Formats: sequence, structure tokens, C-alpha cells
Amino acid sequence: HKPGENPQTDPRLRDEHLAATGGIVVTRFPPEPNGHLHIGHAKAIAINFGYAKHHGGICYLRYDDTNPETEKTVYNDSILESVRWLGVEPHRVTYASDYFAQLYEFAMELIRRDKAYVCQCDAEDIIIGRGGKRGELGPRTACTHRSRPVEESLHLFRQMQEGTLEQGFATAVLRMKQDLDDPNPQMWDLVAYRFRSKPHPRTGTRWRVYPTYDFAHCLCDTLENITHSLCTSEFITSRQSYEWLCHALDVYTARQYEYGRLLLANTILGKRKMHRVIESGIVTGWDDPRIYSLKALRRRGVPPEAVLEFVQSLGVTTAITSIELARFEEAVRSYLEPRSPRLMVILRPVKVTIENLPCDFIMMVHRPLHPKDPAMGTTSVPLTRTIYIDASDFRTESADGYLRLAPGKTVGLLYVPHPITCISFKTAEDTGEVSHIFCRYEDSGVNPEPEAYIQWVAEHPPSRSPVRVDETRLYNPLFATTEPLGCEDIFEAINENSLEVVRGALLDVGFWDMAQRTFESARENARERISRTNKARARIVAAQRQNGTSASG
Ligand code: ATP
Ligand code: MG
Ligand code: MG
Repeated sequence: HKPGENPQTDPRLRDEHLAATGGIVVTRFPPEPNGHLHIGHAKAIAINFGYAKHHGGICYLRYDDTNPETEKTVYNDSILESVRWLGVEPHRVTYASDYFAQLYEFAMELIRRDKAYVCQCDAEDIIIGRGGKRGELGPRTACTHRSRPVEESLHLFRQMQEGTLEQGFATAVLRMKQDLDDPNPQMWDLVAYRFRSKPHPRTGTRWRVYPTYDFAHCLCDTLENITHSLCTSEFITSRQSYEWLCHALDVYTARQYEYGRLLLANTILGKRKMHRVIESGIVTGWDDPRIYSLKALRRRGVPPEAVLEFVQSLGVTTAITSIELARFEEAVRSYLEPRSPRLMVILRPVKVTIENLPCDFIMMVHRPLHPKDPAMGTTSVPLTRTIYIDASDFRTESADGYLRLAPGKTVGLLYVPHPITCISFKTAEDTGEVSHIFCRYEDSGVNPEPEAYIQWVAEHPPSRSPVRVDETRLYNPLFATTEPLGCEDIFEAINENSLEVVRGALLDVGFWDMAQRTFESARENARERISRTNKARARIVAAQRQNGTSASG
């Protein structure tokens, strides 16, 4: 087949492929295990798993582990965990390294077909041969190695793998013999194999040469009989080399389709770039809530369903647009809104004495856990003479349009039958900040409906006192510019105020009821998961018995 022809028309290859798959859709999600997954991967997962599921097909999780220098097995585990967290289960977990022997054979075959050669130019000469650096392209020239005899390349490539190559050892690579006259840079004799000296986490020191993405990816798709090779749109130009290589080897060619990668404003995605930010110490790690790794989102309490709803709301196009963080947050909020019980939280507490209430006054205020959903139930919180409100709900002077508390103004306390009116206040001598507010409880019945209701918590020692929160962390975007990658140095774009720590916030006592419920529902979920796992295990054992295979492992 020539590039541009439908790769599936060879009847023999098509029949083999159909025999292998039974004609179903087969996709794969292919992360490189060089970091943890991020929200962009949630999109890739939704697309690959979603497309297969929609068509009654299957999706593999394939670790693209072709570079032992950057990959670690901890990332494999974390990736699988994140995939499962998003609620999908790979049909099978595979590794590019499973196919190293077959890929090596493919490389030898490619050389035999005179479609690849060992090149011993150094990296700079390769760039010059390709017409120079991007943006200042000159003429492209073939190096002397390009025309070396097939036998010589076969011999040298074997020597590369065996470690017996002496001359030009350091720079030797295997290059595909593509088409230097083609306008597409992906056709300019891409590197297929290069040396890597670190042992591979799975294959140890078995290999000295490792395939590149351009060589391995399409052939792994072939070996797994992938039907739809879905990838992000920066690989559009790679489609030509993808098909070139499969055709050069005369093997089944999956069809590559591209979609636009997810970009979020004011942050960076991409494992390698995220590594840089984490290593700089600006954030505390992969689960720092300021980055958009799935671990971090999980830690922030973003449910996986909300992540999926968000990526699905963006649709699948090839357009790459940067999405504002506010849009993500809005999606999460609207997912959580009907599902989350509410608490009152006073971030920066200011003491309020309700002077006309007796010292031993206690009224239990029943309040719904959700403002619109009575089914969530209620909790009860005490109202006493001493309460705390948030500093931001009080002003020393009222103004037009200001609705909350100020001297002489009346405001409602959420769920409390009557409002309070501010009589006076005190400021702290050292800071000048408001330290104590004095109010009156307006239970005489003549007061108008207050214009606003504010949050509050009451002092009621010892058992039903508000919960003191040692540290509350308020997060803002990590980058001050919408496109940090557009900056010369991403570290210049860091937002100095991405984390604000508030000490001594107060949480209403309904917290204990909620903690209890959360605990119970977690226990319920765990029970369900265990029973599902047991059932699945029983099914596998039964199936294995039927096939006569051992059930061990
Ligand atoms: P690296 O920095 O190592 O390239 P990466 O974040 O780009 O990391 P990959 O392992 O290269 O992750 O990508 C795995 C799969 O996820 C690929 O199919 C890739 O196209 C897809 N993917 C990666 N980032 C995004 C994104 N932002 N939006 C959608 N898909 C993505
Ligand atoms: Mg990569
Ligand atoms: Mg990538």
C-alpha cells in the first residue's frame, strides 16, 4: 500500500485481523509510565474506553515503556489505580516491552527490505542532514550511511544490540529510510532504535537498543490488532510515518484518528513538565491540589464522575483550545451541588456576644443538611450567647447596598428564627482589627425580614463546641498567566499567592454527624466492592476449571 491508500484493503491482512478480533472495535490507552496521570489523560481515557464501550468493543491499557531512562514501575501502579478510579477496567494490561523481541525482528526485517539503515552521524549532523533546525530549513541531504549495503546495516545493528560495536558506538542509531523529498518532516528518516544504558524495569539488561515512539507505537497497535488508534492532534503529521512503517513491513495497519488535547489555562499538563514544577519544590508533590494530576484532584475531593462529566462536556474535536479553570470548577460544583451536605464554616472568626441572651441560654437549631434536598436529613446545632461570625460579614460602617452586619444593622443568622442587630464593637489595641461585636437578639417580633443571612457557629462547651480547624488551605491558580508555556521561563509565571493558609477556622458541630455518615457510607462501599471482587474471582475460577487451566494466581 502507498500512504494515503486505505490501509485495510489487503484482503489477507484484513482477514487475519478480523479473525483475531472477531470484527470488534479494539482501542488502547497508551501512557508512558514516566509520571502520574493528569486531567488530560482523563480525556484520553474517556475517549478510548468510551469509544470501545459504545461499540461493544474492548480497550487495553498499554504502558508505552520504551525508555528505561525516565520510567519507573511505581508509575505503572499509580496509572492503573487512576484508570480504575475513573471507573473503567482495561480488557487487558499490556506493555510495549512485552513486544521488544518482535519489534527487534521487525527492525531486522525492515533493514533486509532496505528500508532502514544504521546511521553513525552525531545528533547535530542528523539535524543538518534534515535541513537544519525547525524554522530555518535548508536543503536536506542523505548522509553516507544511508546508502550502505543491507548486510552492513544488519551486521552493525546486531552489534549495537550485542554491545560489540566499536566505531561510532555512542551515536549509532537505526534510521528508517523514508523520503527526504517529502514535505512532511515525519518522513525524514526518523530514528527507529537508539542505545539506552540503564536497565529496563521489566526486561533488565536484555536489551541495549530500544525502539522510539515512532517505531514502536504503530507496530504495537499492529500486534494488538488495534482497530482505532486514537491520539492527540499533534500526531497528525505522524500518521504518514505510522502508515509508512506498517506498509514497509507489509503488516496490518490500524487507522490513526486524532483529537485535540485538553489544555487548561493557568496551569500546565504533561508529565515531563509537571515533573519540573514538582522537582522545583514550588508544590509539595504529585498530589498537591494546585496541579491537575488525577491524584491531586482526588485529594481535593473531586469525584471521578465530575472529572468525566467535565471532559465529556468538552466534546471530541481536533480543535485545541485552552479551557479556563473556572469552567472546570463550575463543572465540579454543579456535580457536587445536589450531592453534598452543607456545613457552616467561619474562616476568620470574630466573637459576637448577644447581650440580651442569658449566660446559660441554649437553643437547638435544626437545620437541613442540604438547602433543597430534605432527604439528606437535618442536623442540630446549638445557639448560645457567644457566637462567631466571619470577619468578612462585618463592616465598621455600613454603606449603600451593603446587606450584612454593621453598627445599627440587622442581619439574619442562617436557620435561626430571629435576626440580630449590631449595637457596638471593639477593636484590638495592637492590630486595630475588630475583635468583639455586641448584638441584640430581635425576638420581639417587630423586626422586618433581614436582607441577608450569614453563617455562624456558637460556643457551647464542652461537648458541642465548634470544631477548631488548625489549618485551612485556600488555593489559587499556580500560574499568574493563562498560558505559562508561552513564557520564556515557566517559573517566572508562578503566582506568588497560590496558597493561603488560614489558622483557627471554626466548623459547625454538624461536622460530627457528617463524619459519621461518611464513615458509614465508606464502609458500605467497601463491603460492596469486596463482594463484587469475590463474585468476579469466583467467575474466573469457574471459567478456568471449565477450560481445564489452573486457577492459581
Ligand atoms: P509526557 O510529558 O511524558 O509526554 P503526557 O502527559 O503527554 O506525558 P503521554 O504518556 O505522552 O502523557 O500520553 C498518554 C496518552 O494520553 C496519549 O495517547 C496522549 O495523546 C494522551 N494525552 C496526553 N495528554 C493529553 C491531554 N492533555 N489531553 C488529551 N489527551 C492527552
Ligand atoms: Mg510521552
Ligand atoms: Mg506526551
